[in-house]
Amino acid sequence: MNMLSNVQKVTSGLKASCSKYNRDINGLKLLAVSKTHPASAIQAAYDAGITDFGESYLQESLEKIHQLGDLPICWHFIGPIQSNKTRQIAENFDWVHSVDREKVLRRLASQRPANLPPLNVCLQTNLFNEPQKQGVTEPKLAELLELALSLPHIKLRGLMVIPPKNEDFDQQRQQFKQVKRLFSDLKGRYPEMDTLSMGMSGDSEAAIAEGSTMVRIGTAIFGQRQVKT
Ligand SMILES: *Cc1c(COP(=O)(O)O)cnc(C)c1O
Repeated sequence: MNMLSNVQKVTSGLKASCSKYNRDINGLKLLAVSKTHPASAIQAAYDAGITDFGESYLQESLEKIHQLGDLPICWHFIGPIQSNKTRQIAENFDWVHSVDREKVLRRLASQRPANLPPLNVCLQTNLFNEPQKQGVTEPKLAELLELALSLPHIKLRGLMVIPPKNEDFDQQRQQFKQVKRLFSDLKGRYPEMDTLSMGMSGDSEAAIAEGSTMVRIGTAIFGQRQVKT
């Protein structure tokens, strides 16, 4: 696999989507999702110009963060959070996209070391009422947002969503449009929110069309993942 050409393909695809939908490329961040891939792959992607990496499995991510400690990487935690693991997340990551409940949010706030900048937080939102999925549902969202704004060592950045899988571009757009509507509405009340984390390898164009500010791309950069058992 040629990392440089993968990264160039992805970034030129994002640029093309931005110009197609009249989006400023500077308003879109690429988060490279490196879960299951070794530190050497992250190093190669970093050498190809990527600065932000997303991880979902805490134990393997801590090893990689340690191995790559000399690089000025911005680390994002995007996986499900067990409340007994919050300390390691608070101590080792710059962003968390998958906060979905009060207990986790309070623990992250109290465990974030005071010598570090505030932890950037997106609330993972389950907008489509999928019972098996992580995420705060819409009726509980405002309360969690208020809490995020009130806690020390936490910087509320916005929302993260993983809509139901859909291969159809127009249906992808339809789903992201609903997310965008909610985000805009909340942003009116909470202007601190500047991040809408949506779009992955298979649906980033639709997400960009509907206002994503951060796409989380794994497969298109690193190739297929080994299935995690
Ligand atoms: C794995 C993962 C991604 C990346 O998915 P790809 O389809 O490989 O681009 C994005 N977001 C989250 C939350 C993930 O867990």
